[in-house]
Amino acid sequence: MNYGSHFSTLQTPQSEAIPGKSMVKNNAGGFAFAIDDWKRLERFLILGSEGGTYYVGEHELTVDNAQCVVRCAQADSKRTVDTIVSISEGGRAPKNDPAIFALALVAKFGDKKLAFEVLLKVCRIPTHLFNFVECITGQRGWGRSLRRAVANWYLTPEVNDLAYHAVKYQQRDGWANRDLLCLSHPKTDGARNVLFRWMVKGDTTQISDFDELRPVEGFLQLIKSTDAKSAAKLIREYNLPRECVPTNLLTEKVVWEALLEKMPMTAMLRNLPTMTRVGLLKPMSNAVSHVIAALGNIDTLRKARIHPLGILVALTTYSGGYSIRGESTWEPVTRIIDALNDAFYLSFGTVEPTGKRTLLALDVSGSMDGGLIAGLPGITPRVASAAMALVIAATEPQHQIVAFSVPPGATITYANYQTQGDHNMLVPISISPRQRLDDVVKTVRGIPMGGTDCALPMMWAIKNNIQIDTFIVITDNESWAGHIHPIQALNQYRQKTGIPAKLIVVGMTSNNVSIADPNDSGTLDVTGFDTAAPNIMGDFARE
Ligand code: CA
Repeated sequence: MNYGSHFSTLQTPQSEAIPGKSMVKNNAGGFAFAIDDWKRLERFLILGSEGGTYYVGEHELTVDNAQCVVRCAQADSKRTVDTIVSISEGGRAPKNDPAIFALALVAKFGDKKLAFEVLLKVCRIPTHLFNFVECITGQRGWGRSLRRAVANWYLTPEVNDLAYHAVKYQQRDGWANRDLLCLSHPKTDGARNVLFRWMVKGDTTQISDFDELRPVEGFLQLIKSTDAKSAAKLIREYNLPRECVPTNLLTEKVVWEALLEKMPMTAMLRNLPTMTRVGLLKPMSNAVSHVIAALGNIDTLRKARIHPLGILVALTTYSGGYSIRGESTWEPVTRIIDALNDAFYLSFGTVEPTGKRTLLALDVSGSMDGGLIAGLPGITPRVASAAMALVIAATEPQHQIVAFSVPPGATITYANYQTQGDHNMLVPISISPRQRLDDVVKTVRGIPMGGTDCALPMMWAIKNNIQIDTFIVITDNESWAGHIHPIQALNQYRQKTGIPAKLIVVGMTSNNVSIADPNDSGTLDVTGFDTAAPNIMGDFARE
């Protein structure tokens, strides 16, 4: 018997830890490297825990992540707060909710002064503030520092911005501006005081005395208007958002035409179906040109913190032609679908190609269909991984995309995996950035699912003698099915080819494991759909 064959650092089944390496059991029963709390904080802030993962329920995943945030806050509140602000303010995450929740945890378990100092940076609109207050009152009562922070929130912005927010976001989650003003008692005078009096008591006297309060003045007129033409006039005159329009007027084309002129980007993405249904967005119309120009403007996208996944959701919904609940339908305008497709790539900002030979490997196993990224409808890790791959593919001239799962009809157990060999498990996949994303999503959804072996891309490149500088594996890191660990496969590849190949692992769920070895300087962990990820990956591949 060859004892070494059972206990080798060069080749170890994924069901066991590599001898001498500190590894933990992942949720699928394989062994992987634990990521540190800072990396996990980043994964949570970007990917959230809504809907859980294939293996872990929403509650458990949220609790695990919350405990991680608490550990970070207690170890280094400054670093925690800086990370939260960077991801929230930079628009790097599809949703702001995890950042708000994490900030509330820092206020409770870490340095609350640091947390309250950045309240305006993370909670930029009343809805965010309501969410923060809801999170924090679950953790602590209304102490003096919280009152002061909330009062400060209402005292700091320009009065006309606050007036606009006051008419646009009146209440949410059982909280209203009125409640927060009553609890925090901010002291002020002049126009701001008149605005507070209206927000708290509905007192409208003196509203028209101040130019800064025009949004409120317009709002008070608009809610009384009964015909579409005069409503449209008020919307234009006072620059009012959709939230101010009486519901019965929201079926009117002229009303939407007026709203579209100054419509914020997020609202535009959400209301494309409605504007199409009421007949405003139709082929050859000015309204369509307006939408396309806005979608093609990188500054507009950035200012509104439009996240690529938000665009992907808008694209798949709009091109589908019917709402998720199926109660309404529309005839999508092709030019708008194309513009959404382009805006998706644009919203990642400028990414410089590295020129490296890049293999993009998608984990399309069954577990990648569990849960939703940031709770976004239809955006499973599997769908998102394809979209993420296309961003790299669109930048890198030398790339190849492969997917690893199982051949159609095969069932995979650890026992039969070893007899089937490696290369059988790579599923050919033909997707390209030249295809429209909604078609790509359809293709990826149709690939059969099976076991997970993240070593396959490297083994495949060895077997087929393909020269690769950068392996990029997009996965939930729950790898278990291989007879060799991904990091060992990478080392074999380096040795056999002489290429100092790098491995970038793009994590698609907010769990605590990675196939990348933290002690190997040639591997890197990034969080999927962090808008900063493509540039971080590019720098790593180049250096
Ligand atoms: Ca899997």
